[in-house]
Amino acid sequence: MSSPKPSAPHAVRWIARKLEEAGHDTWAVGGAVRDVLLGRPSGDWDLATGARPAEVQRIFRRTVPLGVEHGTVGVLKDDTLYEVTTFRRDVETDGRHAVVAFAQTIEEDLARRDFTINAIAWHPLREELLDPFGGVADMERLVLRTVGRPEERFREDYLRILRAFRFAGLFRMEIEAATWAALCELVDHLTSLSAERIRDELVKVLDADAAPSRALGLYAASGALRVLYAELEALSHAWPGGRERWALSMGAVDEVPKGRSMLRLAALLRELTPAETAALLMRLRFSNAQVDETAYRAAAAPLPEASADSAAFRRWLSASGPGRLAALARLDLARALAERRIGAADRVGAVVASWRRARTVRGSAPPLAVGDLALDGRGLIALGLKPGPHFGRILDELLDWVLEDPTRNERQQLAERALALAQKERTSG
Ligand code: ATP
Ligand code: MG
Repeated sequence: MSSPKPSAPHAVRWIARKLEEAGHDTWAVGGAVRDVLLGRPSGDWDLATGARPAEVQRIFRRTVPLGVEHGTVGVLKDDTLYEVTTFRRDVETDGRHAVVAFAQTIEEDLARRDFTINAIAWHPLREELLDPFGGVADMERLVLRTVGRPEERFREDYLRILRAFRFAGLFRMEIEAATWAALCELVDHLTSLSAERIRDELVKVLDADAAPSRALGLYAASGALRVLYAELEALSHAWPGGRERWALSMGAVDEVPKGRSMLRLAALLRELTPAETAALLMRLRFSNAQVDETAYRAAAAPLPEASADSAAFRRWLSASGPGRLAALARLDLARALAERRIGAADRVGAVVASWRRARTVRGSAPPLAVGDLALDGRGLIALGLKPGPHFGRILDELLDWVLEDPTRNERQQLAERALALAQKERTSG
């Protein structure tokens, strides 16, 4: 690899120059430097500096106190917020977070970073690369390795174990043997992390523009899946066909387009029972709305076969909610693509045909909910019926009858049908 030059954005050089002019050593660090060196589109550019937060706030007019107690000040330039963080070093550890203090040098700051590929600094003015732990060489060899002794580094902050899976998956890297051995030994400690940090890592894996199955495969192989997501682990051992079901879940996650992390999550959980899905999502402290929607999607019935009559499609749309068609069809399609990938079946064309069919049926705007009926509760009262819980049952039955044939959605026909249903209620109740 002919180390490409990071060439920081203008704003990064401008910020660095102001700090350097005030006498503070300043470097670009972290993900952006790494991504540029890997030839990938870079995310946020972060800066590390010898200046203390108060000094940074004094030097720049437009700042945001992002985390001053941790040394981070946001500097606004060209409509972008850049994080400027005072050099830090690890002082103490509790495994849930590394505890840090301010440091004097960039070298100390790089030493507390998790992996060699994340511990490279770039001086945006002198155009100088600082790579004390051989991060560039590891990139070339596609090796993910901790800075320093792996066991120590993971014990300081167990989240680094999950970060290892994500980076190795994303960059198609091999986790170096000692790093792998240490993290496998320590996976049981992952339970000490907060649910939020565990969840955010999973979402980042699902958000990545790479196949999440690679990182998820490392969760499984290391034992982290067993510790954090026992429901999924049990699935992969389930009989019969456990391995195949796990492979299908992995394939389906990969086949949901990137940028749809919640839909990928539903694909991941699709083989679980609804109770398992809800328990897992609540444990990770997803919002109630996210739990409900994801659990619903994960358990949703597949689209009817394209050859089914339109009543079947109306029933499906009515049960799923017409607004969910795209999401649920994508899940079905991902699943079919995954089946084809493992050579199980080829339903891809069939799913596409069903989806098209469902869109056509929906496009004809048939009544799909009780609220779409030409007769409502007040209409039932006008027919002389006494309000009560049976109203709900009658309206549901009317909807069912209309789903069968939308031309029945007409006041007179519904009224006759409602009276007959009420009669039946009286004689049977
Ligand atoms: P991305 O933003 O793409 O997820 P990143 O490497 O930028 O990747 P961030 O979480 O933004 O990750 O962190 C920025 C940098 O801070 C990392 O590159 C790494 O050097 C350091 N870092 C982040 N989290 C940790 C951690 N838990 N332990 C040690 N260093 C860390
Ligand atoms: Mg980042």
